[in-house]
Amino acid sequence: MEKQRKPNYTSERDAADFAALRKDVQNVVKALAPQRRREIYLKAVLFPFMYICTYVLLLTYGNIKWILFATYISLGLLLVIIFLNNIHDAVHKTIFQSNQWNRWYVYLFDLMGANSYVWKLRHVRFHHNYPNVQDWDTDIEQSSLLSVFPNDTPRWYHRYQHIYLPVIYPFYLLNWLLVRDFKDYFNKKKTIWKLIEIPAIEYFKLFFFKLFFLLYLILIPYWVLNWSIWVIISGFLSMIFTASIFSLIVLLSPHANIYADFPVTDESMELPDSWSVHMLKTTNDIIGQNFVTRFLMGNFNYHVAHHLFPNINHAYYPEITVKVMEYAERYDLPYKRFTLWSSLKNHYKLLKKNGTVDNLFEETM
Ligand SMILES: [Zn+2]
Repeated sequence: MEKQRKPNYTSERDAADFAALRKDVQNVVKALAPQRRREIYLKAVLFPFMYICTYVLLLTYGNIKWILFATYISLGLLLVIIFLNNIHDAVHKTIFQSNQWNRWYVYLFDLMGANSYVWKLRHVRFHHNYPNVQDWDTDIEQSSLLSVFPNDTPRWYHRYQHIYLPVIYPFYLLNWLLVRDFKDYFNKKKTIWKLIEIPAIEYFKLFFFKLFFLLYLILIPYWVLNWSIWVIISGFLSMIFTASIFSLIVLLSPHANIYADFPVTDESMELPDSWSVHMLKTTNDIIGQNFVTRFLMGNFNYHVAHHLFPNINHAYYPEITVKVMEYAERYDLPYKRFTLWSSLKNHYKLLKKNGTVDNLFEETM
């Protein structure tokens, strides 16, 4: 049930050109598929298997302190690796041919602490349809402590956000897992309620999986190992901090920086650009291709290709990006890419700019 008017894109002036790009991209996929599909399935099994093995290691050898922390930190790294390579693709239905299989696979995310029902909505319905659009991009909308959009309600403390945010970023996942998911379920003013009603069964699943997550990561290690609850909680927090920093480095760099556009709708909910141009203006790639970016980070740095072709698995993005770059150059469209370091610096600059006194003053006048 749709409850509110959604933002509209202008029609594609270049519809035929984009259709030609789509055709090129489909041919790229067809040529690479036989060999790439093996890698996709391998990752779908290997990383969750490594997560389980690491957990067994934690319970078996966790009485040795360095192993306790090393296994918790590894679980944090694996959580993000599984998210980037498997869950993110499953939510876009690109791991298996069968939709049902992809849907089942996404429950892995619930087992790792995040509510998949609400994340799927936030990510697919809101973030992918309206990246960087205020009040519609739920992936970027976080907490009032953070001002990313130029038209955010200004608060006095935002002028210090470039100082305090890097300090609280390690708590990002703790907030997501233990606060933000619950807010989305219980606060009907949250953005996701613009388009849906949450069915009762999802409330049950929310509590069931959150309790399961805390049970196997805190209570069971506490029962099995000879540590005080505080040592176990410190181990758990080291997992969360590792995962938060790793995931934010990956998630912040393609959208939330000073060179990205934050388009606004006019009174009749019209956005200034066509869908494909909007994706190019709001998204950038991160330069780099090696084993880590390809195999462990799910080609997430090829983010423009992901936004233009979300229904294609990440395994094909490097080759697709070559086509996208040619396309952007041919039609003089704004394709952007930065090194990881400059992209993170550009995020820092955005925080600083949105918090400047001038900005605050202007907005409150
Ligand atoms: Zn996505």
